[in-house]
Amino acid sequence: MKILVLGECAGPLLSPFTPSVVAAARTMGDDVSVLVFGGDCREPARQAARIEGVGAVIVADHPAYGNHATLLVTELVEHAGREFTHIIGAHNGIARDVLPGVAARLDVDMVPDVIAIYGPDRFQRPVCSGRFNADVQVEAPYTILTIRAGAFDPAGEQQEPAPLHATDFLAGGRTVELVEEKSNSTGPDLQTASLVVGGGRGIGTQDHFDLLRLLAQQLGGAVGASMGAIEAGLASYDMQIGQTGHTVAPDLYIAAGISGSPYHLAGIRDSNVILAINNDPDAPVFEAVDYGLVGDLTQLLPGLAEKLGCSGSNPKD
Ligand SMILES: Cc1cc2nc3c(=O)[nH]c(=O)nc-3n(C[C@H](O)[C@H](O)[C@H](O)COP(=O)(O)OP(=O)(O)OC[C@H]3O[C@@H](n4cnc5c(N)ncnc54)[C@H](O)[C@@H]3O)c2cc1C
Repeated sequence: MKILVLGECAGPLLSPFTPSVVAAARTMGDDVSVLVFGGDCREPARQAARIEGVGAVIVADHPAYGNHATLLVTELVEHAGREFTHIIGAHNGIARDVLPGVAARLDVDMVPDVIAIYGPDRFQRPVCSGRFNADVQVEAPYTILTIRAGAFDPAGEQQEPAPLHATDFLAGGRTVELVEEKSNSTGPDLQTASLVVGGGRGIGTQDHFDLLRLLAQQLGGAVGASMGAIEAGLASYDMQIGQTGHTVAPDLYIAAGISGSPYHLAGIRDSNVILAINNDPDAPVFEAVDYGLVGDLTQLLPGLAEKLGCSGSNPKD
C-alpha cells in the first residue's frame, strides 16, 4: 500500500487534524507520504515531516493554493495521487470538497466520513445521519477516503524528520484569478475552534444573531449556523453545520434556537459537551445534549455570556 495523506494548512500551521489522518493511514500500511499545499506552507511541511510514521512530504508551495481553491487543489491531488493506492484526508477539512472530484477524475471508489479502518479495503462509516454505522467493502485496490479525525488518536512525533520534496506542478499550469468568497463568519475557524456557538432559525433577527457573535467573541469561539438560520437569511452558507455542512468537534457546542434535526446533529456529535437553548421544552435537541436551558434565548444569552466569561475553564466543571 502506498498512502497519500492530504496535509492541509490552518493559517501558518499544519491542520491539527493531520496527525489523526496519518494515524488512520498507518492502520493500512507503512508507506505514508503527506502532501502539504498552501500559499506559504514551508512551516506546515516541516511539521508534517515530524509526524510519526511519515516517510516523505510533498510540498506544493504556491500562492494559487493559498485560499484552498477547490478546483486547483483537486488538480494538484489528482496529479500527486496517481502513484498511490490510497488518498486520505480529514472529513472536516478541504478534503471533503476536493476528494470526491479527485475520485471522479481517477475513476476510483471513495468512502467518506470513515470512523474505523479494518484493512485497506474495509471501513466503517455512519449512515442515516449517524443513527447506524455501516461496514463498507471496496473492490478496487485504489481507494480515496475521508476520515472523521476525532475517531483516530493522533500520531506522535518522530525523532528523524521525513525528507521534503517540492513539486513544481502548478494546477493546470495556468493563471487563475482567485476571488475571495465573502463570509459573514468571524473569529476562529469553525472546524478547529474549541468553542462553537451555533445559531438556528429561532434566533429570529440579525440583531439577535449579533448577540451570538458577541458571546462567541467573548469566549474566543467561532459562530456557525443551522440550515434553518441560513434559509432565514441570518447566516451565510459557509457557516452551515450538519450533515451537508461542516462537522465540528469543539470542547463546547452551544446550540441556540436550533430544533435538533438529525441533519444538524450529525455535524455536532463529536463535540465534547453540548448545551442547547430553546424555548420549547419538547424540542428534540434536548434529547441529544448534555445541558439544556429552556427559555427565550434573547433573555438567556447575555446572562450566559457573563457566566461563561472566564476563558480556559472546563465546561464540564
Ligand atoms: C438533505 C438535507 C440535508 C440537510 N442538511 C442540514 C445540515 O447540514 N445542517 C442543518 O442544520 N440542517 C440541515 N437540513 C435541514 C434540517 O432538516 C432542518 O430543517 C434544520 O436543521 C432546521 O434548522 P433550525 O433548527 O434552525 O430551525 P427550526 O427547525 O425551525 O427550529 C428553530 C428552533 O428555535 C426555537 N426557538 C424559536 N424562537 C426561540 C426563542 N426566542 N428562544 C429560544 N428558542 C427559540 C424553536 O422552538 C425551534 O426548536 C437538511 C435537510 C435536508 C432535507
